[in-house]
Amino acid sequence: MYEFIKKLVKSIVPTSFIRKNDKLLRLFVSLSYRGNAYECNICNFTMNKFIVLSNGNKLCPKCGSLPRTRRLWQIIEQEVSGKDILHFSPSKSMRNKIANSNPKNYITTDYEDEFEADKKHDIQAIDEPDSSFDIVICYHVLEHIPDDKKAMGELYRVLKLGGKCYIQTPYKEGEIYENPEITTPEGRLEHFGQSDHLRIYSVPGLKSRLEEVGFRVNVLDFEVLMETRFGLNSSETILEAIRHR
Ligand SMILES: [Zn+2]
Repeated sequence: MYEFIKKLVKSIVPTSFIRKNDKLLRLFVSLSYRGNAYECNICNFTMNKFIVLSNGNKLCPKCGSLPRTRRLWQIIEQEVSGKDILHFSPSKSMRNKIANSNPKNYITTDYEDEFEADKKHDIQAIDEPDSSFDIVICYHVLEHIPDDKKAMGELYRVLKLGGKCYIQTPYKEGEIYENPEITTPEGRLEHFGQSDHLRIYSVPGLKSRLEEVGFRVNVLDFEVLMETRFGLNSSETILEAIRHR
């Protein structure tokens, strides 16, 4: 229902208006969700329930945060203050959260203009100096990139020694699935799960590609057996890629 209404509003109201009045629109939506059973750790809204999307993801009615955003914040919350951060395709909720958490320098970037951001970097040739960032956030980006190996090399280059890149993509079991002959949106949807995805990674496949460009990679696996106050997904994997030399 929520997705239907959102689609309807988007088809009627100009994007610029929605972006400008997003906060007010969400405040209006969130009124009927007020309560104490659940909490968003991004905007601190407490509610009787999350909005449940058709894929099962729980959306915060007030700031629009997704489970993966709330999980990532749990991980980086203590690391953000005083740090140099580069954030690809930032959700609005996380962008505001990080910007308000005292980073030293926080640069947001989005190539497709899908998200509001400061810059429009091509991840295959990031226009930033070497060794510039303590933290890079690269969520649901690499599966869209033609030369992902080059992008990974660029992520490595812009990180400082000891810096971390948090990476997430959709995953499958086994090997990475790629097929350069599949170039149409319909074909990509059928083979890779989304019309603008160029491959489906597997966790071991992505890990080893990252290692090939020099990263040391920790696979962070999260399993939640009970429903959580923060509406996290029951299973989630994040790759923490560290520039260690
Ligand atoms: Zn929220």
